[in-house]
Order: sequence, then structure tokens, then C-alpha cells
Amino acid sequence: KSGFATLIGRPNVGKSTLMNHLIGQKIAITSNKPQTTRNRIQTVYTSEEGQIVFVDTPGIHKAKNKLGEYMVTVAERTLSEVDVILWLVEPTTFIGAGEQHIAEQLRKTKTPIILVINKIDTVKREEILKSIDAYKDICDFAEIVPCSALKGDNTEDLIKVIMKYL
Ligand code: GDP
Ligand code: MG
Repeated sequence: KSGFATLIGRPNVGKSTLMNHLIGQKIAITSNKPQTTRNRIQTVYTSEEGQIVFVDTPGIHKAKNKLGEYMVTVAERTLSEVDVILWLVEPTTFIGAGEQHIAEQLRKTKTPIILVINKIDTVKREEILKSIDAYKDICDFAEIVPCSALKGDNTEDLIKVIMKYL
């Protein structure tokens, strides 16, 4: 199996950390400053099960200037071109304007969406369940996978789930 996946989500949810963990090399740049990942970075995951080309995006947000507009365009085009979308969020029931905006963009695409609830090492199990319910209210998901990109919890499962859509 072989195909394309894109990783989207608000700044600081752990997109670069997840990419680095899955690939096992420091290819994407991680930082606690927003918008470190400016351009599309393509990273290839290869194993016996198959190959996933991860297309990292600058993130979907409301454009404030020309560079911002360009980044939004790139991100939106990516959504329709890939086989599967990974939407990375944090385990919280508070759904802010950033998430609402992403959900709005996602409702326009037919590409299957996997909701990845990251940073599960920071909360209790019931918080994870509550956040799943909150996100289900704003968007339709093909799959929901909780994980910790930092600790590597459940990331192997995530790979298996992604492979289903390639
Ligand atoms: P990005 O902006 O979405 O690419 O987010 P980064 O990958 O740069 O991560 C932002 C911050 O969250 C960094 O300080 C990471 O170490 C931290 N982080 C990422 N994933 C996890 C996780 O699963 N658990 C915890 N506790 N922290 C995480
Ligand atoms: Mg990043």
C-alpha cells in the first residue's frame, strides 16, 4: 500500500512532534512558537505494510497577510489531494475559534478524516472521552485515534489506521 496523508491542526498541538516520532528522524522542525513549519514538508514513512507520504502543511488559519493567504491556499489544496487527513487536536472539550475554522474547511472536503487526539499523557481517560464527544459534534470522522506523540503511545495503531485509507 502507498498513498498520501496530511497532518493539520492548530499551532502547538504536536504536528511536528508526531511527524518526527513516526519517521524517527528530526525532519520537521518542532518548536513551541506558532508557525515554525512554513512550507510543505514531505516525509515518507516506509514499512512492510506500505508507504505513507506525509505532507506537512503550514496549518489552516484565517489569513492576515499575503504570506498567510498563500499558506491557507496551500493547506486547502492539500486537503483535496491526499488520501486521508489527520486532524491533530488536544484532549479538551473547549473548542476554540481555530478549531471551528478548521472544522469549517474540513466539511467542504470528501477526503476521509482521522481525528487524532494528541497529548493523552497530560490528561485522565475521562477527559479524552469527553473531548471525543465534543469533536464529534462539529465534524464527521472516519476514525478517532488518541495518542501521545511525545511518549509514542498508540502511534503504531495510528499507522495501521492510516494504512486502511491508502
Ligand atoms: P506543532 O506546532 O503542531 O508542530 O507542535 P509541536 O510539535 O512543535 O509541539 C508543540 C509542543 O507540544 C512542544 O513543546 C512539544 O514537545 C509538545 N508536545 C507534542 N506532542 C506532545 C504529547 O503527546 N504530549 C505532551 N505532553 N507534549 C507534547
Ligand atoms: Mg510544527
